[in-house]
Amino acid sequence: MTEEHKIDPWEMAVKQLEKMGEILKIDENIIKILKHPIRIIETNFPVIMDDGRLEIFTGFRVHHNENLPTKGGIRFSPEVTKEEVMALAFWMTLKCAVIGLPYSGAKGGVICNPREMSVKEIEKVTRRYTHQMINVFNPRSDIPAPDINTSAREMAWIYDTYSMLVGHSALGVVTGKPVELGGSLGRASATGRGVFFVTRQAMKRLKLPLEGATVAVQGFGNVGSWFARIIAENGSKVIAVSDWQGGIFNEEGFDVEDLYKYVFENLENTDQTVLGYPHSTKDISNKELLELEVDILAPCAIEGVITKYNAPNVKAKIIAEGANGPTTPGADEILKENNILVLPDILANAGGVTVSYFEWVQGNDALFWTEEEVNNKLEEIMVRAFDSVFDYADECCINDIRLAAYAIASERIVKQYELRGIYP
Ligand code: NAD
Repeated sequence: MTEEHKIDPWEMAVKQLEKMGEILKIDENIIKILKHPIRIIETNFPVIMDDGRLEIFTGFRVHHNENLPTKGGIRFSPEVTKEEVMALAFWMTLKCAVIGLPYSGAKGGVICNPREMSVKEIEKVTRRYTHQMINVFNPRSDIPAPDINTSAREMAWIYDTYSMLVGHSALGVVTGKPVELGGSLGRASATGRGVFFVTRQAMKRLKLPLEGATVAVQGFGNVGSWFARIIAENGSKVIAVSDWQGGIFNEEGFDVEDLYKYVFENLENTDQTVLGYPHSTKDISNKELLELEVDILAPCAIEGVITKYNAPNVKAKIIAEGANGPTTPGADEILKENNILVLPDILANAGGVTVSYFEWVQGNDALFWTEEEVNNKLEEIMVRAFDSVFDYADECCINDIRLAAYAIASERIVKQYELRGIYP
């Protein structure tokens, strides 16, 4: 792990919160509340591995606040920490508020390395973690979803385990489920599609053509691969992509559909990587990818990758934060000085939770929408949120879109506290 990666995400979130409180003159009691997640659940649980060994896993669920039902994904990774989950839950609160969804933020995580586990072992960990959270997850109050290394497959196991334990099929308890189990059409592509919508709007604002624009994408998982596919379909040139193993480059632009098939249809789950794709002209490192001369840079992997150390070398015109927390506060300042437009995570990657909300509504009503309806509603909501943030920035002469997004979110959160009051 490099020096730049030794960033405590919670520390980063608190810095952002303090900056927001100071500049936007938010009541200090509200800032005090937001600095303390309302509930942090930590659990250690045993799982018998395929070779008969017993292993203890640690999992977390953090509810940042509970003004509204809490919502947030579950991450499986060896790098999960309590502080990371706390930061991700805080960003979920802001994200839901900036979009105007009826949720507060939550997040979950299990420290494990699915790349070194069999499918059976991943299933056992998922089911046992769900069991540990049986009094935490709830269709009315805490609804998980996918995140790094979890997908519709794990959501199906969560849905099944929860339903078995409570004695009825609870469609609303988790989103990101397979369509056959009450998932929403359009959920898999939703986060990447949302990143595309805000990037397209930003390009319009900057009067830059999307057609032929060059794009680099860090992370070719759910968010990155869908973003790359959709932006390429709309005429841009994806010239670099990467994953945890490294990156590939082709200045002519990749045929992203072909690359997608290569990674996800030809390779076994645990071997999936862009490295080795035959149409790459050279391999590049993740560090090099972030510093390429491109119109659009989309970090869609992990947090803390653009720091004060590498920000001076970033040459993109727009950074579209598909990942949560990819840019540190120190980097933000440098990017602003260099006139690089940052589309902040809480706005840019909100497409996922938006369609998760659609899924929740559809599941609770048992009435399902077409994919076109889902995508159209998503576009309408993302464009409206984008416009409200940019209009706020224009009206208040703020040249920091993250701060404008935080301002809109915090106005809504402050209002929630005013209306509910502080119990009792
Ligand atoms: P994923 O597991 O599907 O994909 C993650 C990708 O990042 C993979 O290609 C992986 O190889 C790569 N990666 C991991 N570590 C890396 C590293 N150190 N350097 C470079 N690449 C690395 O996960 P995802 O669901 O696409 O999530 C990616 C990011 O988007 C996360 O920050 C997540 O919190 C955020 N996000 C996801 C969703 C969602 O709906 N899935 C919604 C909003 C935000």
